[in-house]
Amino acid sequence: MAHIKPINPDLLTDSDVDYANFSCCGDEDLIFLRCPACGHLSVQCYECETWYVDLADTGRMESAYLSDDERLACPHCSVPFEDACHLMEGIVDRYLPTAAQVIAAGHGRHLARHLREQHGVLLPPST
Ligand SMILES: [Zn+2]
Ligand SMILES: [Zn+2]
Repeated sequence: MAHIKPINPDLLTDSDVDYANFSCCGDEDLIFLRCPACGHLSVQCYECETWYVDLADTGRMESAYLSDDERLACPHCSVPFEDACHLMEGIVDRYLPTAAQVIAAGHGRHLARHLREQHGVLLPPST
C-alpha cells in the first residue's frame, strides 16, 4: 500500500508510521519527514496536507499545503526544503528518515508495529 517509494530500502515509507497515534482526516496517508539541514523529524499527511511538526506533541499541526512557488520550511531550523515536490520519486530520499533515526530521536513509538517489533521498541504503558 506504500505510495512513497524511496530508492534506499532503509528509508521509511507511508506504511511505516503507526497510524493509531494520529487522528487525521480519516483517509490518512502518513509519512515521516526528516529535515536535510538539521535532522528534525515530523510527519506529513499527504492526503489532507496536515503536517505534524512536533512528534513529541502530535497536537501541534501546521498546513503543508503549498501554492506554486512555495516550499516547506523546517519547523525547527526554518531552512526551506530545496525541493517543492519533496515526496516525488527520486527526490523523496533526501527527506525521509530511517527507523534507526526515528528511534534515536526518541520517537520510536510512532513507528508501525512491524518496525517496533523488528527494532525492539517498547511502548510506554498506556494510561
Ligand atoms: Zn489527513
Ligand atoms: Zn531543520
